[in-house]
Amino acid sequence: MNASSFDHILKKVVIVPVIALLAGAAILVWQIRESTKTVNVIETCDRRIALTLTIEKLVLDQETGLRGYEITHDPRLLQRYFDAQAELPGAFDRREALVRIAPRRSELTGIRNAYETWQQAFARPLIATIQAGGSTNDVNLNLRGKLMMDDFRERIANLNQVTEKFRDDSVTRWHRQILNMMVALLGAALLLGLVLGFYTRRLIQQVSTAFRQSHDALRFRAEQTFRSEEKLRTTLRSIGDGVITCDTEGRVLTLNDTAQELTGWTEREAREQPLAEVFPIFDEQTGQPRADPVARIVRSNQLLRPENHTLLRRRDGCELFIEESGAPIRDKQGQPDGVVIVFRDVTMARKSQQALLANEKLAVAGRLAASIAHEIHNPLDSVSNLLFLMDGVADDGERDHFLALAKQEIARVTQISRAMLSLYRESRAPVLIDLREMIESILLLMDSRFNTLRVHISHDIPNDLCVRGFPAELRQVFTNLLTNAAEATGPDGTIHIAGRFVTAGPDDDGARREQGAMITIEDNGPGIPENILHQLFQPFFTTKGERGTGLGLWISRGIITKHGGTIELTSSTGEADHGTTVSVLLAVDPVIDVAAA
Ligand code: ADP
Ligand code: MG
Repeated sequence: MNASSFDHILKKVVIVPVIALLAGAAILVWQIRESTKTVNVIETCDRRIALTLTIEKLVLDQETGLRGYEITHDPRLLQRYFDAQAELPGAFDRREALVRIAPRRSELTGIRNAYETWQQAFARPLIATIQAGGSTNDVNLNLRGKLMMDDFRERIANLNQVTEKFRDDSVTRWHRQILNMMVALLGAALLLGLVLGFYTRRLIQQVSTAFRQSHDALRFRAEQTFRSEEKLRTTLRSIGDGVITCDTEGRVLTLNDTAQELTGWTEREAREQPLAEVFPIFDEQTGQPRADPVARIVRSNQLLRPENHTLLRRRDGCELFIEESGAPIRDKQGQPDGVVIVFRDVTMARKSQQALLANEKLAVAGRLAASIAHEIHNPLDSVSNLLFLMDGVADDGERDHFLALAKQEIARVTQISRAMLSLYRESRAPVLIDLREMIESILLLMDSRFNTLRVHISHDIPNDLCVRGFPAELRQVFTNLLTNAAEATGPDGTIHIAGRFVTAGPDDDGARREQGAMITIEDNGPGIPENILHQLFQPFFTTKGERGTGLGLWISRGIITKHGGTIELTSSTGEADHGTTVSVLLAVDPVIDVAAA
């Protein structure tokens, strides 16, 4: 059951009883109105009876006054007669006003006429006779008057009898109505109770079923959440990276096992502590504390790019090289609700990388050693031949010539050994390097190698193409690239080295290019198949089997990046047009990250 049908039921629970009660109230009002009408009828009857009695009493007063006057001839006694006479027309009018049905009205007219007749035919002539001093002993007249009055009284009695009967009927009807009303009220209450009971019971049953269902659903969801939380917790606990979660204020909430191991804090100790306390990190080169990552992430609401060259000071004081990154934990509105910091110990990786670099240097040196031995062997051979020749020659001129030749050969040996030494003698700060000079000295060392491989090599580098950098490292780069080119082309291949100064602006592909010195090494080897192009700069990727280390390009890129430069490789494997071009762009005066690579 969803929220809207739940609402619907609740509305029904309220609306149905209200409607039922209103219906009950309407019936009750109708009943009350009916009985009120009956009460009004009874009241009207009472007023009618009272008025009729008043009329009867007034006529009686007149008769009494008349009798007294007749006996005493004292006109004072007639006062009652006249008083009643004055009141009677009004009383008759009021009584007539209370009559609605025609038979009653004619009865009332009959009473009024009987009274008028009594007055006209008896009372007034009698008064006139007494006033004229006549005799009042006329039996006939008195008998007629009595009959007239009897007729009047009988009519009055009849009318009242009818009215009283009507009143009694109305009272009976009122009693019946009250009884009906009570019965209806009881019945309605009972019916309403039953209806409401059954109806509401059904609705409440629906609601309670819905409640039970949603309760079950909630419990199921809570269990699911618990299970997935448990899964996440286990995953978090078992991953090899350190994970710390914090609130947006930078207070630590959780640490996984690796984070506890690397920081030296247990989760219980670390909870609620500031991150900088639990996870103190420093710049590897400057030793300065790193800016608070939580504040940066909360401010930007973005992932924090992985940082290298970070030192983590463990709680016991020892320092680890780490790589760390961070991300905001967002709420439903996408606003940062917390921060997760992920880091890993790269101390071992850093050491093995350094070992690899040393290894590759040794490999380069080893490969060169053979060609150097060859290079040195030739001039030394010449020198020993020249010395041998000089020994047996008496001619001074010829000896001087041999000596000059021997010096030349020795100078070449010295040059080779110097070049060899410069490969290893590293300056501490970047120095100005003449690229033409450097490439020429590399070619000198590799000369015999190229001869053995029968590779033709040419170069076109201007004289003043200079950059700042570490010479030994750049030598290693170019030695690697030239060796790769020579190994790719094989016998009778050609390699051309070109150098030029490029200005900032879009390059051939439209991408942005910085200004600097560009060296391109172009060979006409078979080229590199497209499917392996993306693997070239990965460590240990080689197609040369035992002969290769797969480190040359990887190390070269590291060195060039450190020198603020870029290395790009384009290759073609076409039938007629095949070969590889490596372009190295070096910044003229780079800001070199001394600790990198
Ligand atoms: P390695 O020379 O020890 O194999 P590198 O990192 O120097 O390692 O080179 C990796 C791979 O790149 C080589 O094995 C080779 O397949 C390919 N490669 C590099 N330079 C060239 C080139 N100029 N022509 C053809 N293939 C090349
Ligand atoms: Mg190589």
